[in-house]
Amino acid sequence: MRKIGHFMNGATVAGTGAEADIFNPATGEVVARVAMGGAAELEAAVASARIAQPAWAATNPQRRARVLTKFVALVYDNMKPLAELMSLEHGKTVADSAGDLQRGVDVAEFAIGIPHLGKGEFTIGAGPALDMYSMHQPIGIGAGISPFNFPAMIPLWMSMPAIACGNAFIMKPSERDPSVPMRLAELLIEAGLPKGIFNVLNGGKAAVEAILAHPDIGAVSFVGSTPVAAHVYAEAARNGKRVQSFGGAKNHAIVMPDADMNMVADGLIGAAYGSAGERCMAISVAVPVGEGTAERMMEVLKPRVEALKVGPYTASDVDFGPVVTAAAQDKIKSLVDSGVDQGAELVVDGRDFRLQGYEKGFYVGPCLFDRVTPEMEIYKQEIFGPVLSVVRARTAEEALTLVNRHEYGNGVCIFTRDGDAARNFSRQVQIGMVGVNVPIPTPLAYYGFGGWKRSVFGDLNQHGPDSIRFWTRTKTVTERWPSSIQRGAEFSMPVFSANK
Ligand code: NAD
Repeated sequence: MRKIGHFMNGATVAGTGAEADIFNPATGEVVARVAMGGAAELEAAVASARIAQPAWAATNPQRRARVLTKFVALVYDNMKPLAELMSLEHGKTVADSAGDLQRGVDVAEFAIGIPHLGKGEFTIGAGPALDMYSMHQPIGIGAGISPFNFPAMIPLWMSMPAIACGNAFIMKPSERDPSVPMRLAELLIEAGLPKGIFNVLNGGKAAVEAILAHPDIGAVSFVGSTPVAAHVYAEAARNGKRVQSFGGAKNHAIVMPDADMNMVADGLIGAAYGSAGERCMAISVAVPVGEGTAERMMEVLKPRVEALKVGPYTASDVDFGPVVTAAAQDKIKSLVDSGVDQGAELVVDGRDFRLQGYEKGFYVGPCLFDRVTPEMEIYKQEIFGPVLSVVRARTAEEALTLVNRHEYGNGVCIFTRDGDAARNFSRQVQIGMVGVNVPIPTPLAYYGFGGWKRSVFGDLNQHGPDSIRFWTRTKTVTERWPSSIQRGAEFSMPVFSANK
């Protein structure tokens, strides 16, 4: 059985103690076992980070960027095996895994701009013979804690800006699919990153608690479910750390009466069922405005949902694969049961989906609910599976209110041909990422990624300019030299801007 340990001080190290199974969700078989580290393993990672970080921070930013440039090239060279390794442990299609890697590489490419992105500001003559400048210095040691659903993208979102800024980094990936982060750590060393700058600590809750408590870790970036995100935010803040913590989602698509129904149906099936619905930007609620819109939408949507192909990542013609674990499969099916019990109309029922030769895989077929209401559990909870709920709204205002009242605020999309309607919606909706005829409006690397409401705890977003602010501390220097002016002692508050 393949064993996965940790990555510390530039090399893999075997785990000691507890382990967890890693499954191939397509077959239900155990394919590897991962070490479940804790405080002792973290201490070793922090020790190597502490030694390596000052020299890395003192390295010219262009030279730091050059390491990332080489790393990016190595990821492109290894795209196919990395994507296949990801699909083996996650279950999504190989094309989808390649997209996961690409979105991560996008952020590495953004972070290569660090010589420019990391510059401070300078004001000459802020007062008599007085200059003022700011600089962005690395935090020291940062940590990232990531979910199972994007095993490359999210670790790279966190680590690439952190490293580019001159920090050392400790990555705690999901215990469901840690092989790709371990491989990325090797590629970073191959690209020339000094040992100790990127470390991988494998494990679960104990590893996370150790990170939150460690006094030498100055900043923590978390992505995962909302209850854990809220806990990580509170605990890291209590321990005096900088923290950004991203949680769950329930993303709506508003379908206006003038929308192009072909575009709507294609957009909805891709965004709701792609990656088996296991994306924080998946559309899980469609809101047609007006009965006529709802009828037309269901007519186009239902046959397309029924025609979706579910299967293992090794098959080439599959739309989506299994969900990540047997526990996830059970949870999704029981939420679908609750929808039926609470009176929603299950138009397409994927609960009994079976695939010959893959009977033990964690499959859930596509499910489509109509006439869902806001009181139902399938509306309130994040299902994180291939389930789309249709909530019929009478007016555009009712649709907007529905979105704004939901506790989550990650993404939303409006399908329409009406520029006024789209513009008003974009401004009034209480959501962090908005799509206009774009069902998954995940911003590119040079913009920030982040939701509102209970989809996020903290202030600064992932990637984009916020990431440089998050992984650095700003210092402002006010400077005057003795030869330039002699004023004598001043006892009133120094003011340089008063009108004479
Ligand atoms: P999860 O919360 O179970 O796990 C996330 C991380 O937290 C993992 O590394 C895990 O080991 C750790 N963890 C789990 N339970 C813990 C506990 N009790 N105490 C401390 N640490 C714990 O999430 P998941 O199932 O891996 O991922 C799916 C969730 O992530 C969904 O809710 C999804 O919406 C969310 N997500 C959000 C975003 C975003 O940007 N907002 C992006 C991707 C995924």
